[in-house]
Amino acid sequence: MRIILTLTTLAFAINICFSQNIKLITFFEKSNFLETPRYDSTIAFCKALANESNLIHYSSFGVSPEGRELPVLIADKDKISDPALLKKSGRTILLIQACIHAGEPDGKDAGFLLFRDFISDKNISKYLENVSIVFIPILNVDGHERWSAYNRINQNGPKEMGWRTNANNLNLNRDYIKAEAPETKAWIELFNKVDPDFFIDCHVTDGADYIYPITYGIEINGNMDSNITKWQRNTYLPEITSLMEKANSPIFHYVSFREWHNIESGLESWVTPPMLSNGYTAMVNCPGLLIESHMLKDYKTRVLATNKMLEFTLQILNESGKKLKEFKKEADVYSASEEFRKTPFPLDFNFTNDSTMVEFKGMEYTQEKSDLTGGTWFKFGKTIKNYKLPYFNNIKPTAFAYLPKYYVVPKQLLFVEDLLKIHNIKYYKTKNDTTIIATTYIFNNVQFSATPYEGRQRVTSFNADTTKIKMDFVKGSILVPVNQPKSRLVAHIFEPMSDASLLKFGYFNTIFEQKEYGESYVLEPLAREMLKDPEIKKQYETEVKNNPDYPKDPDAVLNWFYSHSEYRDKLQNVYPIGKIF
Ligand SMILES: [Zn+2]
Repeated sequence: MRIILTLTTLAFAINICFSQNIKLITFFEKSNFLETPRYDSTIAFCKALANESNLIHYSSFGVSPEGRELPVLIADKDKISDPALLKKSGRTILLIQACIHAGEPDGKDAGFLLFRDFISDKNISKYLENVSIVFIPILNVDGHERWSAYNRINQNGPKEMGWRTNANNLNLNRDYIKAEAPETKAWIELFNKVDPDFFIDCHVTDGADYIYPITYGIEINGNMDSNITKWQRNTYLPEITSLMEKANSPIFHYVSFREWHNIESGLESWVTPPMLSNGYTAMVNCPGLLIESHMLKDYKTRVLATNKMLEFTLQILNESGKKLKEFKKEADVYSASEEFRKTPFPLDFNFTNDSTMVEFKGMEYTQEKSDLTGGTWFKFGKTIKNYKLPYFNNIKPTAFAYLPKYYVVPKQLLFVEDLLKIHNIKYYKTKNDTTIIATTYIFNNVQFSATPYEGRQRVTSFNADTTKIKMDFVKGSILVPVNQPKSRLVAHIFEPMSDASLLKFGYFNTIFEQKEYGESYVLEPLAREMLKDPEIKKQYETEVKNNPDYPKDPDAVLNWFYSHSEYRDKLQNVYPIGKIF
């Protein structure tokens, strides 16, 4: 029985790809579009593609924590094999990645179909005339081998798949700024070598039901260079939307509903933070497309739609990539300019109350009261419903920073230098011990997350006063100029208000700790002495008035006097990084 089934499946697959080399029928096709290959089978197929083609090269670009090689394929008409040499060809470079969330393998199988078609179909390989592709079939290789049918509860196939996070339970798609995982470090190194002109990250969504096999995210809401934004808005999006429509695979913006699951509440859009892949590439002047295939569609529909999205993007880049490359070059120059530096830099965004009405093809649904939870039970039906919905896509910055000429990082923050090297950010080292008057932040009312986020205790909120103080920096401290192409990245790393900043990720939490305390027998007389000063007395009375519970805690009262005395730690709550304007 099994043999007959296998033969039937094979015959079916051969029928689809009758003109092709049998070695190049993908695992996905052989499985009757129901399955995705394991890591070993993926690597074997990469090698088969490279062996069978004079366009494709296979290599690895790093090693995972569990010791697996990170695979990368390059498709180039001259079979250029060194990522660093691709740029010299002058062609547009497209970087595609799949399986950063290894439970969402659609991009791996979609990319394999595209690469196989480069060998077997001249109508597809002709798009490599002006474009080279760098393809990572699995980024999260260790998570990929945490293999199960039960890794994605909302998702309709494949039969089995990998897991969302890496072997250390880190979500690689929150790691782009702090770059903690070896996979992320390797990715950034590859990205900097390749210097792509367009980036695609392939995922599968969760959320509501609707007809679109794919929703997409692209940064057009004001957080990247204006000319690149216009190119995405006026060239890329109209073309890809029309091509996908013609291929019977309509697409829509990646949105969420204003009220979870309640379609009629309207749609909202956002800006992707730079700790995510496409938010990161936007910060370094590379358009980043997020593909989210729809989890309720069957695996075949999702993979074929993702494949079309990749193929059509290649087609568009083959025609229009030259212009994009020019914009990218200009964007790098502008990002390093004084004009850019002197413009207040937006660190956070939110949508306003303005909306436009859009058509949205959703599914009919019913709601009933759950007798189990007492909450609402949403049930999506099978009937398509054409909604007219308010779309809240008018995004405005909500937090800004004034960017200095240099950020000054004290030598002792050794991890910062490592991070700058990873991101290929330019910096200098001071040659002498120096005391400078620098601008920095003094924090108060600092709140921390009660549970870890990506293994770190996040700073969730704070008040920050900007101040100018004398700061000491020993020889070998680091000066990071803002005038460089990666200025946006520099700002997000160092400006505490950015959600991706090192401060919010808890890397500076030690500055919030009090390390010295006074004994009561010392502080009792000192407090009485201090209260003779009318200014201190007034401050203390205000403190008591504002916090009625305050005097009930004797230690807190005495510590108030310690922290207002000359003995206090003058560096506590002071941001250790200076800004020189
Ligand atoms: Zn994902």
